[in-house]
Amino acid sequence: MAQKEYDVIIVGGGPSGSSTAMFLKKNGIKNILLIDKAKFPRDKICGDAFSGKSVGIAKELGIIQDFEKVPHETVYGVLFSNPKGTQIEIPFPGADKKDNKAKPGFVVKRINGDNVIFQNAKKQVDTLEEFTVTDLITENNFVVGVKGKKMGSQEEVQLKAKVVVGADGTSSVVAQKLGIGTSPAEHQVIATRAYYQGVTGMTGNIELHFVDEIMPGYFWIFPLDNGMANVGLGLLTNEKQKRKIDLKKSQEEIITNNPLFKERFKNAKLDEQGIKIWTLPLGSYHRKNHGNGWILVGDAASLIDPFSGEGVGNAMTSGKFAGKHIAQAFKTNDFSEKMFDAYDKELWDTIGPELNTSYNLQKIGKIKWLLNLVIDKAATKKEVKEAISGMLANEKAKKDIISPLGLLKLILT
Ligand SMILES: Cc1cc2nc3c(=O)[nH]c(=O)nc-3n(C[C@H](O)[C@H](O)[C@H](O)COP(=O)(O)OP(=O)(O)OC[C@H]3O[C@@H](n4cnc5c(N)ncnc54)[C@H](O)[C@@H]3O)c2cc1C
Repeated sequence: MAQKEYDVIIVGGGPSGSSTAMFLKKNGIKNILLIDKAKFPRDKICGDAFSGKSVGIAKELGIIQDFEKVPHETVYGVLFSNPKGTQIEIPFPGADKKDNKAKPGFVVKRINGDNVIFQNAKKQVDTLEEFTVTDLITENNFVVGVKGKKMGSQEEVQLKAKVVVGADGTSSVVAQKLGIGTSPAEHQVIATRAYYQGVTGMTGNIELHFVDEIMPGYFWIFPLDNGMANVGLGLLTNEKQKRKIDLKKSQEEIITNNPLFKERFKNAKLDEQGIKIWTLPLGSYHRKNHGNGWILVGDAASLIDPFSGEGVGNAMTSGKFAGKHIAQAFKTNDFSEKMFDAYDKELWDTIGPELNTSYNLQKIGKIKWLLNLVIDKAATKKEVKEAISGMLANEKAKKDIISPLGLLKLILT
């Protein structure tokens, strides 16, 4: 039985869906329904790092101050190590360990961070939690709503809207029902996540370690509040398949035997959730993200940075552009694929060059001797360290560094 009709239905209340809801509201759309199959607060397997880009969008939405109210740890830079074990500490540009308010970035458990974003959206739009979307309603080649079930009920409910936004993550039902397959294995990372209490030697940085055991992927340690750390590793799904790597075993081996970490984890305790595994759809693959009456955002649109694995910033950025272009469509009552071409264009004009550069960096990361050389150089040469610091913050510096000449300059400095 059909129920109330909405202007926009958003499937998924994670960072992409909740941001879409708030940006739609900012752009004047009133009749919005935000659906999630979970009840918030809910967990999401993640490294929990909230980068400068995410901080920027949270400021734009006026919700950054609410992160102060939940447990989190401010981070000031990145500690890298190469397969040889050389370590370098690269501060985020503008980071100042004495100024806690500057917040260049922070690590916040997603169960808390996503709840901040969702609860802010909930103040502004209608929400429906514990409702799983199972299918789409289509009429005359346009998506005009969703079908689904409330948790614990067998009754199918139909909800109609002029536009449906798929913000339902890696295994997006919206994308599946539209016939858009998942990203190919070479454009996906498979990764672990685990919480440990009592890892020693934390430095106020997020740590990315290119260790032999998991090359060409990396092992990370991100500091959390209260002596906790988010620990995981990830590598391209096709590499995992080729090398038949058991990710959980590799993580345990690194922690127990790698000389860089065994002392640091000697008394560390894994929490009751154990080691979890999930996939990351990468933005090295430009997935179809719009059509008649529908738009995809966040992981459903495959937007994760192929080098760093960060996806929250791009998820929120896509929510911003979806909000803008859907509101534009309401002005002319045109919800066609052609109308939403502008969403795809603005999104990819904005994040495409950066994703492309990161894809090239990912390829460099596969070459062990080059990684050893660059990180060794950065450990001894201020100029190389500064170039990498600029690269973390700035698209132009990133481009310079991965051009053949830029790379040569860096190595020969
Ligand atoms: C191991 C790992 C580590 C990562 N580390 C980082 C990191 O440190 N920093 C970073 O920025 N990014 C990281 N990422 C990427 C980041 O987690 C994602 O890019 C981000 O969560 C995308 O947000 P989203 O809103 O698109 O999707 P999600 O956060 O996945 O939200 C999707 C929502 O949709 C809901 N949903 C799904 N299906 C349905 C349905 N059928 N009906 C109704 N609701 C539905 C889900 O319950 C969920 O709430 C990591 C990812 C992984 C796997």
